[in-house]
Amino acid sequence: MFVVTKFGGSSLSCAKQFKKVRDIVLSDPMRKIVVVSALGKRDANDSKITDLLYILHAHLKYSVPYEDVWKIIYDRYVEVRDDLKLDYKIEDELDLIAGQLDKNIPQDYLVSRGEFLAAKLMSRYLGYEFLDAKDVIEFNYDGTVNFDATGRKTKEKVAQLKKVVVPGFYGAYGNGVIKLFSRGGSDITGSIMAKCVNATVYENWTDVSGIMVTDPRIVKNPKSIKEITYNELRELSYMGANVLHEDSIFPVQELNIPIKILNTNEPECPGTIISNECKDNSQAITGIAGKKNFVAITVYKDHMSNEVGFLRKCLSIFEKYDISIEHVPTGIDNLSIVVARDQVEKCLYELIVDLKQELGAEVTLWEDIALIAVVGRNMAHKCGLCGKLLSVLGENGVNMKMIDQGPDELNIILGINNCDYEKAIKVIYDNLM
Ligand code: ASP
Repeated sequence: MFVVTKFGGSSLSCAKQFKKVRDIVLSDPMRKIVVVSALGKRDANDSKITDLLYILHAHLKYSVPYEDVWKIIYDRYVEVRDDLKLDYKIEDELDLIAGQLDKNIPQDYLVSRGEFLAAKLMSRYLGYEFLDAKDVIEFNYDGTVNFDATGRKTKEKVAQLKKVVVPGFYGAYGNGVIKLFSRGGSDITGSIMAKCVNATVYENWTDVSGIMVTDPRIVKNPKSIKEITYNELRELSYMGANVLHEDSIFPVQELNIPIKILNTNEPECPGTIISNECKDNSQAITGIAGKKNFVAITVYKDHMSNEVGFLRKCLSIFEKYDISIEHVPTGIDNLSIVVARDQVEKCLYELIVDLKQELGAEVTLWEDIALIAVVGRNMAHKCGLCGKLLSVLGENGVNMKMIDQGPDELNIILGINNCDYEKAIKVIYDNLM
């Protein structure tokens, strides 16, 4: 039986945080696989080691003096070791990296050292074995994870070493060259480890007591979510909720391994459980998320609805420009294609010309749209929820430009003006949660 336990950068920012991590890990003997991020910020003005490593790489690449940046990184690891009074010469590892600091050092390798060094320290501190992610997480050459090879190697190593600390955020191709996941990717490492050992639970320790119902920068002290399904979380993450790396959900969802979001600074708080078996049905809405800066391109043509293949022709023009489409609300003689602004910025005018010429249609543009996702597994078959949503927004002067509900009734997507975004989220939270 395994519990996979991942700690983010804020749980590893200094010796005091390392001590909290040790108390948590050693309080449950099932916590046999510990995944760590690089050291995070000690306070709001501090820097994350990962950010410093990217800066260091840029300095090296452009032959700018880099010694000051390297010294900050070096000192942070030495300071944690000293404060923990660990009998471990981390200088040997740091000097090995220092010897490779030149123009040609691969970025992924250099940046991965943040997690590597944090895992070295943590393994000594816990008395666990260090298991290098490059020896277990294998990437295919197209950049996807090779789950067969990764599963085999992980099982083998864990059986041999028993209790391990694994650096997050990277793995290696079959030839041993290190490759990073995208930012925040230690979540993915934890999830892959959990899948490989078929963990009973994947714990993700951070600095908040669970997932909040909505963005705390918009709603002050929002409630936190006790239980949420993987699919609800994916809807919220997709629409901008910054909780877990999106790619960390699939590996554990497949095996129905629950994920717990927990707070290193308040370990007694129950946090949020993500699973397929949510028992709490008291709330219709689980969470609200959203994003600004979408564009709706509306195509008008008389009798469009009777023209077989019109929609396909229209969408294929977007495909030609490699644009991913968010929503397609339709009328009888018109339809809108809603896309993220940054997707169309470079080709907007060519796209409009193509739509006009190839479809023989009129085209208009509506810019500055925000999309809000109201997500909840308990919304299905609830009468009146949409009505209430629209009426509270209307009463508060928010003009609704688009509304779309997924066929599984798991989410309602609202399209409004960018300038109404914050107000709309507050109104929904205050009146419906
Ligand atoms: N340290 C990496 C980052 O800042 C990975 C992680 O923390 O998950 O993105």
